[in-house]
Amino acid sequence: MAKTKSVKSAGRFGPRYGATLRKRLLAIEQKSEKGLRCPKCKSVDKLVRVAAGIWDCRACGARFAGGAFVPQTTLGKTLTPDELKLK
Ligand SMILES: [Zn+2]
Repeated sequence: MAKTKSVKSAGRFGPRYGATLRKRLLAIEQKSEKGLRCPKCKSVDKLVRVAAGIWDCRACGARFAGGAFVPQTTLGKTLTPDELKLK
């Protein structure tokens, strides 16, 4: 397969879908390459994305809400459910 310069793993799509979308996909894929960690049992690479924002842990069976494409977002870390109740 030909080498890609800026979109790396998203190069599998060739010229399709536009460079911006492929770069955005690359950013998501690079985050999951580090290994997604379950917030409950802390096991790595056991999280499965059920739907947008819904995550399952195959190790402990936990199902929780998170980001659409990553289990935890920076905003989600800032605003915990307890803090949201106070407002
Ligand atoms: Zn777990």
